[in-house]
Amino acid sequence: MNLYVTCKGCGTKIYIESKAKTRQELYREMGKKFFTIKCPVCGNIQRFSVNDVMAEAKSDTTLTGTLLGGLAGMLLGPLGAAAGAITGGIIGLNEDTKEEKEVRKFNNSYV
Ligand SMILES: [Zn+2]
Repeated sequence: MNLYVTCKGCGTKIYIESKAKTRQELYREMGKKFFTIKCPVCGNIQRFSVNDVMAEAKSDTTLTGTLLGGLAGMLLGPLGAAAGAITGGIIGLNEDTKEEKEVRKFNNSYV
């Protein structure tokens, strides 16, 4: 899961280094509700509140799962590779759903 704020000047997503699962957690981590960030693209220095921070799922989880599954399956021959890819895809899919739940939880939490 990635956390970001959107630059008010140019719309660039500015990513925040944090493992917080909710905005409350992020608030505790930062120790303050408002913070300033300089946009790396347009150079605008802006003030954000913890409530402006959005979460998004990392989009490569399904691919990683499929690749891992395929790789494991390859050791078992062509049939194994197909089965492995399907299993990996399912694992990836579950990851996605779990992460999407976390994303929703974060985005629905307010400080
Ligand atoms: Zn900007």
